[in-house]
Amino acid sequence: MTTIVLRTGHVQPVWAGHPWIFAQAIDRLDGAPQAGDEVSVVDPKGTFLGRGLWSPNSAIRVRIFTREQNEALDAKLLHERFESALRFRKIWLDIPNAETNAFRLIHADADRLPGLIVDMYGDDTACAQFLTVGMKMRQELILGELIHATGVKTIVEFANAKVQKLEGFTASTGALRGNLPDSLLFKERGFEYRIPLSQTHQKTGFYFDQRDNRSMIEKWAKDKLVLDAFSYVGAFSLAAARGGAKHVVAIDSSASAVAVGALHSQHLGYGDQIEWVCADVRNELKKRTEQKEKFDLVILDPPKLVPSRKHLDKGKRAYRDINALAMRLLDRNGMLLTCSCSAGMDSGEFMRMIALAAGDARRQVAVVASGAQAPDHPMLPGFPEGSYLKAVFLRVL
Ligand code: SAH
Repeated sequence: MTTIVLRTGHVQPVWAGHPWIFAQAIDRLDGAPQAGDEVSVVDPKGTFLGRGLWSPNSAIRVRIFTREQNEALDAKLLHERFESALRFRKIWLDIPNAETNAFRLIHADADRLPGLIVDMYGDDTACAQFLTVGMKMRQELILGELIHATGVKTIVEFANAKVQKLEGFTASTGALRGNLPDSLLFKERGFEYRIPLSQTHQKTGFYFDQRDNRSMIEKWAKDKLVLDAFSYVGAFSLAAARGGAKHVVAIDSSASAVAVGALHSQHLGYGDQIEWVCADVRNELKKRTEQKEKFDLVILDPPKLVPSRKHLDKGKRAYRDINALAMRLLDRNGMLLTCSCSAGMDSGEFMRMIALAAGDARRQVAVVASGAQAPDHPMLPGFPEGSYLKAVFLRVL
């Protein structure tokens, strides 16, 4: 097995649990690994740090899956990882349960399977995403153990075009196991969803990471006039409606998301409470500000506006602008839930952006609560890239 020797000065993050070895951290290779091979990572003195899979074309050359010298990425390890991930979710998080049967089973690095994401949609269906060539090469082994641990009958691959190009593999378009379903059927917090696969474009079926923040919104929405910006299929809108909101306006630029959302609100009995708008959020917020509209509660959950650190300045500006627009729609005692799923912007930078946006909007705001990704999306303390979701509840003073 090839040994990857790290440069002095690049060891501490790895020692503290960071699972990624970047190209610039590598001093030399003792061996000539092929794409996807297992490699061993050591410090400049030769002390073993971990074992990972080799990605020659990615800036992240190795992702460490074990800190044990004798552990290989085989059926036994996969079995243990899947069982342990399931057990944690059952015992500590009580998922799946009668209200929620959809959740993230494997959150890559923090479930000790870097390069792999597995989402469960009910008992029978799983969606897998391969993020490294090494994991994709082990697909058959992975699927076998996943079925063994969960009993799923259908496995769909969610493709990420950028990752595939970088890592050098092609995702399958059909089902990996079973027949490709028309829709993903599942329950979250008691709401029954049916999301057509065509809607997801096999990228994302549903955003489970906001589950707990939706519960907060449900608690606080009673008698409020609510605006759900970047609503997707309206999971926050439904939470607000069931929480007793007077009226909810849901805005998304995807016509199919809006159509699916409108159908769900009707079927679930909230058709009169939720109004659907297919529009660009920025234009819609501007228009409503000019018309002097006001809301009691605004939810802002935009897509990733800082896809990587090099987009930080532009992305921060975009967050600042939409946050300022949202704040202008609120008066004293109004509430804003503002979110960012950009790992490239940390929580300190996010808070600074909020403060600047408040200045722009001539509002004073106070943080009353903050949330993060739900606990079926765990984070490693020494791995900032893994804690991506920030959710801050602000009261306008
Ligand atoms: N709040 C949602 C998830 C939002 S994901 C939930 O809880 O499930 C981001 C959404 O933003 C996507 O549905 C995407 O279609 C939408 N979107 C992206 N750019 C947009 C824009 N400029 N205006 C309106 N919606 C946009």
